[in-house]
Amino acid sequence: MSETVPGVVVTGASGRMGQVLVRLVTASPALKLVGALDREGSDWLGRDIGEAMGGAALGVTVSDDPVATIAKAQAVIDFTAPDATVAYAELTAQARAVHVIGTTGFEAEHLAALHAAARHAVMIRAGNMSLGVNLLARLTEKVAAALDAAFDIEVIEAHHRHKVDAPSGTALMLGEAAAKGRGITLSDHSERGRDGQTGPRGEGAIGFSAIRGGDIIGEHSVLFAGEGERIELRHVATDRSLFARGALKAAVWGQDKHPGEYDMFDVLGL
Ligand code: NAP
Repeated sequence: MSETVPGVVVTGASGRMGQVLVRLVTASPALKLVGALDREGSDWLGRDIGEAMGGAALGVTVSDDPVATIAKAQAVIDFTAPDATVAYAELTAQARAVHVIGTTGFEAEHLAALHAAARHAVMIRAGNMSLGVNLLARLTEKVAAALDAAFDIEVIEAHHRHKVDAPSGTALMLGEAAAKGRGITLSDHSERGRDGQTGPRGEGAIGFSAIRGGDIIGEHSVLFAGEGERIELRHVATDRSLFARGALKAAVWGQDKHPGEYDMFDVLGL
């Protein structure tokens, strides 16, 4: 194998996405797994990542030392939590490694810290890394641009019972796409979590509804509801590996890019 294959560190290696990422990076001829990070106190620390996942040894030991681990990476694929991702971003910037961020649930101060880190390294972040959802976002923008405010826009999402943030990163991405198409700012027009005496729907609002249950991987619909007709755009994820495949593609794509912030529209050329 060529020495130029980029070395990848997977963060949150014991997590749902972390494990899928470890499997796919290991199987990829375009990337090489060089590190696996987990949180301090994790049962997986010090174990071979392949064995910890219940399979054959992969020759990579799970570590809670991000400084030493990220120093040897050309790419870090990170699906963890906002505070963790911000801390990893400083280290990927120092290492000049491509930081692929799938984590969702960022607040404004997290985003400001990520923006600062991206001055020094390539950062690719998307609330959803799948081709289908990024295409759905582009379609949403186009449909929103074609319809006026007589069509109410609702983003409806469903996820598994363990998900901790709502609306999902993907739902917000779709809301942003709808707002862009309509030429409005999402933060001024979003309507979330209706309950009780809400009064009528706000004119031109973009509504969000979240369903949580079972093992649903991720379903998103954008509803355009008018008088006498409705248009619905919908994406259903049936396998987590579709997000991971997008993340791997981003890790390879980012290798020859200039430092800065990118998203999956850039990676997929949409
Ligand atoms: P998960 O199973 O809970 O895995 C998260 C991993 O990150 C766990 O190993 C967790 O460790 C670790 N972690 C959490 N907080 C940490 C911290 N402060 N420092 C270090 N490690 C930390 O969750 P998941 O389903 O894999 O999802 C992870 C993230 O990816 C979520 O934000 C989710 O919304 C997002 N996601 C994005 C996409 C996309 O396409 N962009 C797709 C799927 C999921 P512990 O178990 O010890 O807490």
